[in-house]
Amino acid sequence: MANPSPAPAVHGLQTLPTDDVRQLMWRFADRFELQLLVQAARTVARGPVARLVADGGRNSHDWTPGKAALLQQFDESGITAAALDPEDGGFIAGPKNLALALAAFELSWVDAGAATCSLAGNLGLAPIHERGTPEQRAKYVAAAAPLKPGETRTQVRAAFALTEPIPFVGVETGMMGGKVRVAEWKDGAEPLLQVDKRGRFITNMAFANVVTAAVDSDDKRIKGSCMIILEEGDPGIWDRGTATKKLVHQLSSTNDPVFNLTVPAHRIVGGYTVKDGVIVPNYSHSDIIEAVFRRTRVTVGLMTAAKLLSAVEPVILYQRRRFRGGEGAPGTPRYELGLQQKEDVLHRLVDIWATGEASASLGFEAARLFDVLDPLEKQKDAWLAEKKLAGRAALKELATKQKDALELLQITGKPVGARDLKRQENLESDPMVQFALLDSLANVLCPACKLWNTGYGANMMREAVSLMGGYGVTEDCPGFLGQKWMDAQLEATYEGPEAVQRLQLSVTMTNEVFLAQFKQWIAEMKRLASERPGTGACTLGTAMQLWLWTLQHVQTATDADGAKLYHKTRQGVTFPLADALCWLLAARQFIFDVAELETKGAANAALADGLPGFVSFFNDLCHVQSARAAGEVSRITAELVFGYNRHPAWDETSCHACYCAEELESLEGMIPGIDGSARAYADVTETGEDHPCKAGPCVKFTGLEGYTRLRSKLDGCLTGCRLAKDRAAEALTGVMTREALDYPV
Ligand SMILES: Cc1cc2nc3c(=O)[nH]c(=O)nc-3n(C[C@H](O)[C@H](O)[C@H](O)COP(=O)(O)OP(=O)(O)OC[C@H]3O[C@@H](n4cnc5c(N)ncnc54)[C@H](O)[C@@H]3O)c2cc1C
Repeated sequence: MANPSPAPAVHGLQTLPTDDVRQLMWRFADRFELQLLVQAARTVARGPVARLVADGGRNSHDWTPGKAALLQQFDESGITAAALDPEDGGFIAGPKNLALALAAFELSWVDAGAATCSLAGNLGLAPIHERGTPEQRAKYVAAAAPLKPGETRTQVRAAFALTEPIPFVGVETGMMGGKVRVAEWKDGAEPLLQVDKRGRFITNMAFANVVTAAVDSDDKRIKGSCMIILEEGDPGIWDRGTATKKLVHQLSSTNDPVFNLTVPAHRIVGGYTVKDGVIVPNYSHSDIIEAVFRRTRVTVGLMTAAKLLSAVEPVILYQRRRFRGGEGAPGTPRYELGLQQKEDVLHRLVDIWATGEASASLGFEAARLFDVLDPLEKQKDAWLAEKKLAGRAALKELATKQKDALELLQITGKPVGARDLKRQENLESDPMVQFALLDSLANVLCPACKLWNTGYGANMMREAVSLMGGYGVTEDCPGFLGQKWMDAQLEATYEGPEAVQRLQLSVTMTNEVFLAQFKQWIAEMKRLASERPGTGACTLGTAMQLWLWTLQHVQTATDADGAKLYHKTRQGVTFPLADALCWLLAARQFIFDVAELETKGAANAALADGLPGFVSFFNDLCHVQSARAAGEVSRITAELVFGYNRHPAWDETSCHACYCAEELESLEGMIPGIDGSARAYADVTETGEDHPCKAGPCVKFTGLEGYTRLRSKLDGCLTGCRLAKDRAAEALTGVMTREALDYPV
């Protein structure tokens, strides 16, 4: 047996994480423009946004002058322009997923309604940005730039209108009530279209002057669905509708608008062709929604991550001061530590912090991934256009690149000496192979981060609220934690609730290219476990094996009635497996981010003193989070693997037979009916004779030994995780905080 690993060196956590730490972990230490954006967004968040919340700005459903004034703050600080390319008035070149994620994170640290207000403008323009014609981009995107001194044009403020009054569009985006018809089509002239759209819960609608709306054809002369650009001033009805009586994100505007407008056909997003007298939009509304949401949902996931991390300082301040006054004197544990003398409050705060870190790690990784994927996606579109391929033919061509990607993964999975290096180089240099690899990851990471960060994050915000006692549920709660708890639920709902993300994951997580990479990640995690013991990497690697085993099992297994387990209608199987995967992905990325901090932090003089403390504390948080993730995976997979088998007849006698002789002995006298006669049943079985419950003691099912072996291995991998939690809890009692939060309450 190997020697037990030595206890990790304890380096105290001196302060809460600084900007230097975050820049390394989230990989923008070399991006000065992003650092400036973070500072600008922070100044707006902790200044005017916080003051508005503290002054009760959230207590009205209406779009008030105070809320409207924030738009100017976003413009003047550069937050609005951060979404634009330099030629359109922006200051960040190239993809901006990480940039927008960082800005949203900073704003949501104080109030995610403010973040939503700023981001919804980008969402409104995103259909044009992603799929618009060059003319549409030139007209609308550049016009969203804040006005320069002396400019008199109207600044575009956009809204995105997909959701409709019940019973139409919600989660099911195909059930569309919004219609488009030909209003007038004169010979040789551009057709005029009649657009009839009612929206529900449309953000920015109190002030938007451009709306991208999803509509379906109600005319033989228009094919399918599309998104269409509506402008305030188009002939017809432009009714902003009533304000939604929201309990959340009150600093953003949400209305139920009504539109009945006549617009020229060139407003169809992405353009159209005319075929045999029929207008054929180049993109259906679902093509566009897919392109838009796969990016914007990542940012939403980061809003909840920011809330969790923002809760750490106010909770520590509250805990430490709770018992001051009375008989306690400075210097006594009661005075200095207050509630932090109690283990439970520390452990709960460790869980909140670890969740916040893991969700931020997952979200920023997804944002960075899209920054790499964006140019590849453009190359892919150009490549297919050059080959004149669309629809099924395009998918067929892309499938060849997926095969190449799988081959590349097979090669890189071998030891270097056994690889065909020439072939590897060829495949690696093919941008379409790179696209196939990264696209398969993006299709998993985006829904995973939206689902886990917001859904589980909302649960953990409740924990944060509970640690503040009665204050937690008042408007005076430092850090606005009560509001943030409720806000997190909206983040779990809009841009597609959890069910939508689970549906998507249930398809994308079975993609062969993703799974081939996932298998390599298991080996990588095991390697990391030996290089960085104490991070929980070993636990996580085994939990990843368990998840993969279960996925492969349910893909072929049937239930007790012979029905397939892995099927799109069987959400009881596919959804929990999607949830389990999210736990793994978040904990995995957190481990990588801490490794990055340790590696690169050594070169940063500003971190010289604090680095060992940050690294050892974060490693402990990683361990805690990995153990928690492993527990979830274990619980979920066990239910799926065993839960669809039917238990043999369950009466008192056969129930006893499910205990082995040893268990019966220990239970004798504790459970009524367990006595010597029951032991006799178990004995009978042990000798191989007919067992009353037929399946044998402990209801064994053949073929599942691999699972049970892995699961018991996983239990052993949890070694040390509670020691890590104790150390992290201890660190919370010594970490330095500010005297007061840096924003008003
Ligand atoms: C404050 C706010 C701002 C918003 N901003 C916008 C905006 O700017 N633009 C816009 O277009 N929309 C916006 N929305 C709408 C939002 O995106 C939708 O509310 C959301 O997508 C869910 O639709 P729904 O409310 O109709 O829920 P439903 O479709 O009724 O779904 C309700 C629940 O039923 C379950 N469910 C539904 N379908 C399935 C399924 N297939 N499988 C399993 N379970 C299922 C899920 O649990 C789901 O959460 C906003 C909403 C709010 C509250």
